[in-house]
Amino acid sequence: MIIQLDKEITPARKETVLRNIADLGYKSMDVHTQFSEYLVCVGKKEFDIRIIGQLPGVADVHRVSDDFKLVSRKWKVRPTEIDLGDEVKIRRGEVALMAGPCSIESERQVEGLADHLLANGVKIMRGGVFKPRSSPYSFRGMGLEGLRMFAEICRSRGIKIITEVMDAAQIDAMYPFVDIFQVGARNAQNFTLLDGLGKVDKPVLIKRGMSGTLEELLQAAEYVFSNGNEKIILCERGIRTYEQAYRNTLDLNAVPILKDKTHLPVVVDPSHGVGIRQYVASMALAAVMAGADGLLLEVHDTPEKAASDGQQTLNFEEAENLYLKVRAAADLLRG
Ligand code: PEP
Ligand code: MN
Repeated sequence: MIIQLDKEITPARKETVLRNIADLGYKSMDVHTQFSEYLVCVGKKEFDIRIIGQLPGVADVHRVSDDFKLVSRKWKVRPTEIDLGDEVKIRRGEVALMAGPCSIESERQVEGLADHLLANGVKIMRGGVFKPRSSPYSFRGMGLEGLRMFAEICRSRGIKIITEVMDAAQIDAMYPFVDIFQVGARNAQNFTLLDGLGKVDKPVLIKRGMSGTLEELLQAAEYVFSNGNEKIILCERGIRTYEQAYRNTLDLNAVPILKDKTHLPVVVDPSHGVGIRQYVASMALAAVMAGADGLLLEVHDTPEKAASDGQQTLNFEEAENLYLKVRAAADLLRG
């Protein structure tokens, strides 16, 4: 059960609500987000929900049988919209494009990409400065200095940025420069990181874990929401299966199913999802047709020379072609 409290509920009224919940045998947790205050109640008793609904100070009450609660569509039918400012939004009914290199490498690289994105009406640049690499000897990113440079170039051109945060200890230092915090697949169940991101007021994109179930992805989002941050985006990026012909198995079933289960926007990363450049466009378009609210794409001026993930990265021409097709596909879907 989720009880949404009135914004100006008095302590005495809240006490009465809490007593009623306890009397019904429910355990409750107080959740304050940037938008509202909720009591998330866990228990299994059959009772007339109006007992709670009629109490003074209660704005709304919903029964939610899912294990994840605040991210469930069972209580919030209206989809969550992520507003990045300057008219840049991630929301249902549109396909938000987020494109850029796997790794931020140099000023020249970021400038070239910014020009490419601006020329193509893409408003969000991706790029990692802290890179989770399978080998400790691979390029691990430019770090905070790189992020500063990345943000400076993008800010001056009105481009928003999404970048990966690998550890809760990095959040504060990264905060001023980031528009969306990305949680990587390897960190999808790093609960300390998710707790930390729940305490900031900036959007968080959570990638599905390498072998994560949809339930686990939704629970990861529940961590962020229950710590106080409602601005969450889910990302399908492929899972590890027995198939060896490509890097990951992009699970597009996840898109309509997640959109049914949650009010959060659902985006797809076909670059990591298939892991082979020549198939990225097909999978991106398939993702749009499956209902993706956005795409995260790896793009580089010279993918052959990229410091990481060049094999799955589109060059500018390939990317431009894809943006056009994505927009046409989105129009087609809208009817
Ligand atoms: C990335 O976006 O570059 C990345 C490392 O992704 P993932 O966490 O999905 O592997
Ligand atoms: Mn990558």
